[in-house]
Amino acid sequence: MTAPTPLVETRQVGRLTVHAIQAGGLALDGGAMFGIVPKPLWERRAPADPRNRIRLGMRCLLVEHEDGPVLIDTGLGNKEPAKFHELYDVDNAGAEGRTLLEDGLRAVGVRPEDVRLVINTHLHFDHAGGNTWRDAAGTVRPTFPNARYLVQRGEYHYATHTTERTAASYLPPNFVPLMEAGLVDEVIGEGEVVPGISTLPTPGHTPFHQSVVIRSAGETACFLGDVCPTTAHLPLPWIMGYDVEPLVTLESKRRVLRRAQEEGWLLVFEHDPTTGFGHVAHDGKAYALAEAVGGAVKHPVGQRQGSG
Ligand SMILES: [Zn+2]
Repeated sequence: MTAPTPLVETRQVGRLTVHAIQAGGLALDGGAMFGIVPKPLWERRAPADPRNRIRLGMRCLLVEHEDGPVLIDTGLGNKEPAKFHELYDVDNAGAEGRTLLEDGLRAVGVRPEDVRLVINTHLHFDHAGGNTWRDAAGTVRPTFPNARYLVQRGEYHYATHTTERTAASYLPPNFVPLMEAGLVDEVIGEGEVVPGISTLPTPGHTPFHQSVVIRSAGETACFLGDVCPTTAHLPLPWIMGYDVEPLVTLESKRRVLRRAQEEGWLLVFEHDPTTGFGHVAHDGKAYALAEAVGGAVKHPVGQRQGSG
């Protein structure tokens, strides 16, 4: 299957320009993606292929920041064998052999060596796989050799102390060579990492999963990561079967979506195959994507107006 498009979608958050880069497509089991939600309900929002897989994107976010480009998540990378690509129906090859992430960066005028900071929401292969790449000789190298890589300390520990249930998602070449090269900074909890860009712990998918909040000139955007991977996951109980602590995800989602709705945050949906950005509304029963009308966002009556 071909990768979702467009490759790049650009938005303004206050004075900061952000680019959602679609780093490729993959397909995951629809049942696993929607946890306890029965198939007759989820397949209306996400049609399944003959192997019961649904199509997903792997969106990353590049922030043009005065300290240098900041990249949030890195897609799946180029290191996995054909069998892996077949299993997950991966389509992420770039025009010049690396990946669509590098193509997207080039499209916005950024070279991998220009990136100053890489923030990983967590270290699963579809989020951190592009942290490193394999060259023609088979050597694993940092994709962003001049960047610091930022990860929650607990997530790095969790990724390097796996169990039978978690090991398949954590592939050491995506992060261990970076730690060994001294390129990783570990953060603990919530905090501003460069002016205007903050980590926001949203645990549940993994115990130390984080979202990233971008604030500038009174506007706020949030890169949700896997706390709410697609717009179909906006209703609170629509939680992935992959999550190791689904009831913790529920509370993380409740907190982040309430704030997003009250404060009019622009949300970034990492795995959505079509919708990169959106605002959230609550109709009294459930969260849903706010209706976009002529580029503006129409909020249901009784809700505060968003700034985005
Ligand atoms: Zn994911």
